[in-house]
Formats: sequence, structure tokens, C-alpha cells
Amino acid sequence: VLAKGQPEHGIVTTCAYCGVGCSFTAEMKGSEVIRMVPTKSGKANHGHSCVKGRFAFGYATHPDRIKKPMIREKISDPWREVSWDEAVTFAAGRFKALQSKYGRYSIGGITSSRCTNEETYLVQKLIRAAFGNNNVDTCARVCHSPTGYGLKRTLGESAGTQDFDSVMQSDVIMVIGANPTDGHPVFGSLMRKRLRQGAKLIVVDPRRIDLIKSPHVQADYHLQLQPGTNVALLNALAYVIVTEGLANEHFIDKRCDLHAYAKWKTFISHHRHAPEAVEKAIGVPAETIRSAARLYATGGNAAIYYGLGVTEHSQGSTTVMGIANLAMLTGNIGREGVGVNPLRGQNNVQGSCDMGSFPHEFPGYRSVADHATRELFEQAWGVSLEAEPGLRIPNMFSAALDGSFKGLYVEGEDIAQSDPDIQHVHAALSAMECVVVQDLFLNETAKFAHVFFPGSSFLEKNGTFTNAERRISPVRKVMPPLAGKEDWEVTQLLANALGYPMNYSHPSEIMDEIARLTPTFTGVSYAKLEEMGSIQWPCNADAPDGTPLMHTKHFVRGQGLFVLTEYVPTPERTTAKYPLILTTGRILSQYNVGAQTRRTENVAWHDEDRLEIHPSDAELRGIKAGDWVGIKSRAGETVLRALISERMQPGVVYTTFHFPQSGANVITTDNSDWATNCPEYKVTAVQVMPVSVS
Ligand code: SF4
Repeated sequence: VLAKGQPEHGIVTTCAYCGVGCSFTAEMKGSEVIRMVPTKSGKANHGHSCVKGRFAFGYATHPDRIKKPMIREKISDPWREVSWDEAVTFAAGRFKALQSKYGRYSIGGITSSRCTNEETYLVQKLIRAAFGNNNVDTCARVCHSPTGYGLKRTLGESAGTQDFDSVMQSDVIMVIGANPTDGHPVFGSLMRKRLRQGAKLIVVDPRRIDLIKSPHVQADYHLQLQPGTNVALLNALAYVIVTEGLANEHFIDKRCDLHAYAKWKTFISHHRHAPEAVEKAIGVPAETIRSAARLYATGGNAAIYYGLGVTEHSQGSTTVMGIANLAMLTGNIGREGVGVNPLRGQNNVQGSCDMGSFPHEFPGYRSVADHATRELFEQAWGVSLEAEPGLRIPNMFSAALDGSFKGLYVEGEDIAQSDPDIQHVHAALSAMECVVVQDLFLNETAKFAHVFFPGSSFLEKNGTFTNAERRISPVRKVMPPLAGKEDWEVTQLLANALGYPMNYSHPSEIMDEIARLTPTFTGVSYAKLEEMGSIQWPCNADAPDGTPLMHTKHFVRGQGLFVLTEYVPTPERTTAKYPLILTTGRILSQYNVGAQTRRTENVAWHDEDRLEIHPSDAELRGIKAGDWVGIKSRAGETVLRALISERMQPGVVYTTFHFPQSGANVITTDNSDWATNCPEYKVTAVQVMPVSVS
């Protein structure tokens, strides 16, 4: 940094990595960013940052960046650099030809949680208005789609209930399937601050995450459950609260649907949910479950924070609803220090869902089947719109293999690395006749593409991201786009080439349209963001300055709804051939598929994915630290280096998925959540054995 000299000016923007959404000043010398400095006025981070946000911006100018559009007839042909005009005309021509030959539903698009709200909004508009179908989905499908489903059904809104600062009023913090000190480091630090002040901690995780014991923090309970048993555990916690008379009946009387509650109470009081009945399946002693339930119900303000260890299961949506049930049961919702708080993985998971990038919902989580909503969008967009939901990502892959889905536009998402059962994804992409990839780098998906549109990094465009606390924050252009176009401009060019006119001159106009059409956003504008710095939606006439806490007086759906959450074990089973359970996650210095962080100096902290294995499992197999091991599942096999660790429990192994060569998703299965198809990344039966690698 010193070698780069003193900054000449700074521009405030928002981190492009995790769902904390830290505010930074990009300090510039000319058009070069020389460092990123967290801003004290940033309401999500109050001047703090982590190694990703602070140091990992170098990918924006990495030599691997593609700066020219490229096309090729077949994926076996070499790429040919062309003008923007030629590339867009080529893509539009192919899409139109596919629709004439195979019909309107034969093409679709995928947007990403790395895109801004404005970009995502435009992609779903392109698909609905220009493609003429609802075949649009987002990578939230593979992470937090169960959150959208579960929280909407129980509470009425597909979003977390609190702001981050609320944790400082918590007396009890329950962390389920999340690793905040690695995955959401700045919020993880805030949580640890509250724990150091004396808040109690319950951790529900198959792995011994760092939060359990760190300087001046010691979890009161670590419920080290078997992967795949979240629902059984949540039901057991609820059973104890109900049968021991610890429910907050006053809150329930006032705030919840009493008919649904009575039905649920009968369901949950059955002895099959008792801790003693399920302790063996869950792997946690009944008395520990009882003690944790008593602490959550009676310990004061109790907040639940959860992550992908909740959602990425065959019962992900059921688990989210089980969490909402617990919060309503104990009255832990609607004030500071409590609530149900999904920790979003990527920077704009919340925003990509808010912006209608699901095949069944318009922006603001309104059904495409609803006549009045459809009419609103039809009038605004000047086209008639499809009432039937479109294809989800996994359905697009299946339809491609059936021969009915032929073309895909993918913006900012590396589906050929990040999606489960990757062989299936590769076969589906190979079967398509036109794959258009818009990204910073020639990623794994680009290997299957016919058109490559070079994307723009967060430093090269204007827009907004929405973090895990529903906070909309500005993303500001600090340098010109390396390929000459911001991502939203490329989508607009494609729409126009397809014959659907789009004429925005700045992303602020896209936000104005979002605000006009989305009741929770009516008060949001770039002018308001300049004035306030950031805004938490809903922001409208009822809440002109936004909403830090939701459901304070009544639930968004009116009365809170208790939903029956029967535990159905995952179809994935261990056997003598596949005796261990593999679960996956990520590490502090790297970010998801690593496309960005692998191209920065952060590889100094972590340069390969490893297989974490308990010493007893390693010893049984003759595996020593650093040995190469083969990992085989019913879906596929790969090779990783072993990391022997007491963080694991016997019978469970763990890996990250930041490096394409590690092939973590070669092994994961195609099991998915019953309601949303979110893949079950967290439970794969595997065998592990030493191998020699020359
Ligand atoms: Fe970026 Fe998340 Fe780190 Fe904040 S905590 S700097 S948003 S990666």
C-alpha cells in the first residue's frame, strides 16, 4: 500500500462479498484503487472489516479479466473476439431462432446474488418481457430459497426480522448451521462482543466451529448433532418448551393464529418429539437438549441466527419454519435483541430474491399467478405476461437433458462449479444450443458457452446491494468498466436486440421503476440513499426512513402461523460402503467458488480445499495429516489433502468448495429441499481412503 502512495480521493461503496454488506471508502490514486478503508458511518459495519473486504479487491484488475465480447459457433471452436454489437446480435439471433424452432419456453436466464438490485431486476424483466416466459432463477435457489419460503409462510415476509445492532440487546444467542466468524466476520465480531459481555450461547452445528470457544467466549451448549437432523432437534426443543409450560401464551394469544397454534401444539406434544425419543438419531443427549430449550425459553431476549446449515437440506424449508415456530412460541420476535435472522451468504442474496428473480414471483415476492399484480407489471412494461411459474434452475437442467430447454443467459453465476451433482449440470449445459455467459472471468460455465459478455466488477458500476438485515446500500462506480459496459447496459442491449425496448440511462432510473412497482420499496431512491447512507426496507409511506425491526406490532401476514414440521430423514444414508457423512462450508479468507478471492493475495491464507477428518476416523484408515485421500460418494469421486481436526465429530467429514480442482460438487448429490429444490449440500454419504498422487 505504501508503495502505491497516498490517495488522491475516496469514494464510498459497499463490499461485494458476504451478506454483512460493509461500507468502504475506495481510496484512489488516479483511476487506481490503492486501498479499501471501512467507513465509520457504515451502519452495517461501524468502521470494521475483514480480510476479504479489505484486501480482496485485486481481482477487479487481475490479468484474467476478459475485456472483449467473444463468440463461437460450437463449444469445440476457439473463441473469437468481436464488437459488442456483433456479440449481442449473435446472442439475440440464436435465442430468437431457438424460440422459433422449439417454442417460447425453450430458453431462460439465471441471475446472481453478486449482481446489484438493478441488474437483477433487469434480468428478470428481460426474461419475462423479452423472452416471454418466467424461466428466471437466481443462485439464491441453491442457498436461501428455503428462507424465502419458510419465513413468508410463517411470518409473512421473506426476510430477516432484525438489524445487526439488535444482537447487542440479546441475552441468549442461538446459532444454527452458521459459522459467523468465518462466513460473516464483521457481524461475527459484533456477536462475540455481546457474548463477551455475558450473553449466553447455544450453538447447533455438527462441527466444532471457532465461536464455541474463543478468547473470553465459551458456548453454554454445543448441540453437536448429526447432519440432517435439524428438524428433529428443533421439534425436541419445542416439545420441551410446550410440555414444561415455558411457552409465552400471552404473546401467542395476542399475535398468532390460534387455530393453527392449537393444531401445532397437539402435534408437537406427541412423545415422538421428546428429546429422549430422538436423542439417538440426533446424537445429542436428551438432558442437553432439555437444558438448551429451557435457556432459550427463559433466558431473556433470545435471538436465532442461522445459515446454510439450515437451508441446504432436504428439509431446509421445514427447518426454517421450525425456527420461526420456536421464536413465536417464546415471544422472541418483534423487539430488539430477539428474532429470526438468516445470515445471507453472498452480498446480495436478499436483494436478488427481493427483485423477483424467482420463476414464480415478481419483485416484492408477489405471485406471477396473481391477476392484479400481473396487470400492474403488464401496464408498466407494455407486454402481456405469463401467469404460469417458470422453471427453477434444476428443472432447467432436467429440461435440457429432455431436449425441451435449449438456451440460457447466465449473469454472474458459475453454475458449472457451484451447483450440486456437477456431472449432471455439465451434461445439461452441453445439451444446450446457446449458452450466454456474462462474467468477469472465463469461469467453468464459460467452457460450455457460445457467447461471452465481459462483466463489470462492483468497482466499475453504480447500483445497490441489500444485505442480510434488509439494508439497501449504494454501490458506486470508482473506475470505468474494463470492457466498456456496465452489466445492466449489456442486459439492456440484449433486450433491445430481441425487440423489447429498454432505454435506461442510469441505474437510478431502474431503482425508480422498482420503487413505483414494489410496495416495500416505494420510498427508496438514489436521492434518499445519498441522504441516509443506507435504508432498510420496507421503506414507504408507513415507514419513510425504513424499518430496522420487523413484525413489531403485528406480523406482516397478520397473525403468526405455526406450521407442522414433521421430521423426515434425508434419503441420503450411510452404509458399509459409504460410512461417513460429508458436509461442506467455507473459510474466512475465501469466498464461495473463489472466482474473485483466488485471484487475490488472499490465497496466502488458504490455497487449496482440504478434507477435515476426526483423528479417530483418520487413524482407522491409516491417514496422516497432509496425506492425499480419495473421497467417493454415490454421485462421484475426488481427491483432497487431509486435515486431521478435533473440530470434526467421528463419522462426519468436511470440506470447502473454493477451488474448482477440488471437485467438492462432483461428490454432492441431487437431493434437494422438498419445497424449493435448494440442494442438500450438507449431507452426502462418502467413503474416504488414502490414495497416492504422483
Ligand atoms: Fe465484506 Fe462481509 Fe468481510 Fe464485511 S464481513 S468486509 S461484507 S466479506
